Amino acid sequence: LYVDHPLGQGQTVPLTREQAHYLFGVMRRNVGDTVLLFNGHGGEWRATVEKAGKRDGLLMTDAQTRTQQNPPDLWLLFAPIKKARTDFIVEKAAEMGAARILPVQTDFTNSERIRQDRLQAHAVEAAEQCGGTFVPEVCDLQKLEQVLADWPEDRQLMFCDESLVGARDSLGQPRGDKWAILIGPEGGFSDSERARLSALPFAHAVSLGPRILRADTAAVAAMTVWQTTLGD
Ligand code: SAM
Repeated sequence: LYVDHPLGQGQTVPLTREQAHYLFGVMRRNVGDTVLLFNGHGGEWRATVEKAGKRDGLLMTDAQTRTQQNPPDLWLLFAPIKKARTDFIVEKAAEMGAARILPVQTDFTNSERIRQDRLQAHAVEAAEQCGGTFVPEVCDLQKLEQVLADWPEDRQLMFCDESLVGARDSLGQPRGDKWAILIGPEGGFSDSERARLSALPFAHAVSLGPRILRADTAAVAAMTVWQTTLGD
């Protein structure tokens, strides 16, 4: 269970209404039962239920069961599409070990805003579901142009573009361990974005094969390609 609370030996952890409902209503836990907790940076802790109410509850930690495990330093940049598909991208990126998820507005992106809080909650759920101790940060929507203007100089970019069939290029060469993946919107990238991206020294164009994948499928496929080529 994810808690937004410090974790340590003998730490009392109060539960929110939603957490109490989930733990006692859905998961049927009771006073005396144990629960595994993580807060995204303090590893995993075993805790005992001290109080189980309908709307609240109290847990007490007793031992650390795992130390903190962070994923590789991989960001996923994607242009938000329809709500359910955007949710899917965030969920799968969190499951597959993205360290940071950045929705970006490209020339052909239709969404003007996103519900960052909802997407962050999906990332938390995904981390809970796959038993991780880390939760990726989901950023608010930013213009791709701005993100590229502020780009950290030591980070490489795997730029996925279906127009570059056969450009399954140089990911294997040593380039450092900070990476980001960029996926375009339903309409793909504009010609000016392609030209801009291709000219960036840190950007590496990559094809995911001859089939044009939907953006949500492309996000998952790209993370797999990255994990199998460069992941630990
Ligand atoms: N522009 C395309 C069109 O309308 O025919 C479709 C874009 S595709 C649905 C959405 C995004 O997924 C692309 O911008 C790209 O980032 C990624 N993508 C999909 N298939 C890909 C492939 N075969 N290789 C690399 N990237 C791909």
